[in-house]
Amino acid sequence: MPSDMKGILRPSICRFRLSGFEITTILDGVSQRDGPHPMFGVDQPAEAVQRHAAANRLPPTRFEHSFTPTVVNTGRELVLFDTGNGAARRDAGVGHLGRLLGDAGYAAADIDVVVITHCHPDHIGGLVEGGQPAFPNARLVFGQVEFDAWRRGENLPESRGPTRELFMKVALPLADQATFVGPDQEVVPGIRSVEAFGHSPGHMAYHLESEGERLLLWADTTSHYAVSLQRPEWRVQVDDDKERAVATRRRILDMVATERLWAIGYHMPFPAVGAVDRTQDGYRWIPLSYQLNL
Ligand SMILES: [Zn+2]
Repeated sequence: MPSDMKGILRPSICRFRLSGFEITTILDGVSQRDGPHPMFGVDQPAEAVQRHAAANRLPPTRFEHSFTPTVVNTGRELVLFDTGNGAARRDAGVGHLGRLLGDAGYAAADIDVVVITHCHPDHIGGLVEGGQPAFPNARLVFGQVEFDAWRRGENLPESRGPTRELFMKVALPLADQATFVGPDQEVVPGIRSVEAFGHSPGHMAYHLESEGERLLLWADTTSHYAVSLQRPEWRVQVDDDKERAVATRRRILDMVATERLWAIGYHMPFPAVGAVDRTQDGYRWIPLSYQLNL
């Protein structure tokens, strides 16, 4: 008897060290979509993006978008970056952070700080579970500009109506548990905010440093490992301020490449950790292998 087919199986938890920090990336889920065009390269002809995908051995008209929150144990505090899609999108095959956190050895109640890089649904959707705060003992950290923009509902693209509704429902009521940061501010020792506005009004990256080892958690600064790194100037449909997002992408990618930082990108292929090299007309993503385990 031939064995039955078991279906696709993906790794969904990865843990490595950044000197004294222990970092765990957790796959909240993946969604398969049409694209990369027009989501990536919305200002380009479809064929140009399709050719680019094919040159990277990627299918031209379908892609996988993955979602990867990160837990950092600094030795003093347990910090979660972003909360995944949450229960609302669990039927769509995402929103698994809560369950996988347990498999990674943590309880939701263990999380001391939840840092929200920005207020799009795939990052704030898991703030609430069953009508209750999903991380009951955590202080929340939002970028001040980001939180204010969504609270006021100003300067947002029309397409972000449902995102604002979600923000008002799950994020705004938690304001009492929150602190708000500007650019270049310490969240906990070893973790500082980096201004990365554009993808959303106050989108933030975070710089992690332990005993001289450094990593930039760039969130959604660039969200497709081939298209958006190799062609950072191509416009991205889901960037709320497309022009500013391009400038930020160039600055952040340049910083990661020049300073030889490790990087975590929320939508990079799991485990979403790597480095960046400069190429003739852009950058390329180098996935982490064993470097940080040694
Ligand atoms: Zn995102």
